Amino acid sequence: MFIQRIVQAIAKRVPPHAKDRAEEALLGLRDFERLATPAQSALTIICDDGELKDLDVVEVLESRGVKGVFAVSPDLIGRPGFLSYEQLRSIRAAGHEIAFHGTTHDAFTSFANTRSLQEAVRDGMRRLHAEGLGAPSTLIYPFGRNSRSVRQAVSGSFDCAFTTWFGLNEKRCNRYAIRRIPFGAYTGKLPATESWYRGLIDRCAAGACWPALMLHPSGPGHDPSHDELLGRLIDHARERGLAVRSVTAHLAAATQAGQTGQAAGRVPG
Ligand SMILES: [Zn+2]
Repeated sequence: MFIQRIVQAIAKRVPPHAKDRAEEALLGLRDFERLATPAQSALTIICDDGELKDLDVVEVLESRGVKGVFAVSPDLIGRPGFLSYEQLRSIRAAGHEIAFHGTTHDAFTSFANTRSLQEAVRDGMRRLHAEGLGAPSTLIYPFGRNSRSVRQAVSGSFDCAFTTWFGLNEKRCNRYAIRRIPFGAYTGKLPATESWYRGLIDRCAAGACWPALMLHPSGPGHDPSHDELLGRLIDHARERGLAVRSVTAHLAAATQAGQTGQAAGRVPG
């Protein structure tokens, strides 16, 4: 197919995930992927992998009275350096959101077929539920990897999904490939300075913008100064009128405001 040849050609020239990103851009969003960003802007803070240093982030969030998202993989929970089920239950009991981050942390694009991916997801969700972590409605893709077929495969099991692809989610976004902004670790060539993050928040103050910070508190580059900076950015976001919310809380608030949800949140056309 001609469009596939274009996708392959672009993939050879640009950075990681390029083929999947080119495919999304060229083929466009399907109805189930269309999400109008809620009218009130919000900042969402997401910690990947469930390592012990997430507890430092919990402390920062609690000191500000706000809630974040903690994405976990059942195969990693309780391993050395990772949070236990008991610790995750208390994080959840404090009002933070537990998100699904794959059963084994293998990339969703690496499964042999849709059926094996869906079986792995069901297995992991069963394990989280059995351990008292509920039924997560938010998916955080391991390594950010997703594709057109992966998004279709997970859409029946989750309300939305986040990738590592960079972006602010202004006005509209792909409900199953919501963009994030790295913070602390994996910032690559981004400026990642305090003034840069403040500037991104300022840009969102006008509304209909949903910046989501991606944290790996145990990852390379994230040091204690980032926990302090996170606190200042939370303060700054609230001063500029952005709510600081988990994913479920933000989508629920938008639904209550009659602005989004299963039907109304879909962008026509
Ligand atoms: Zn991960």
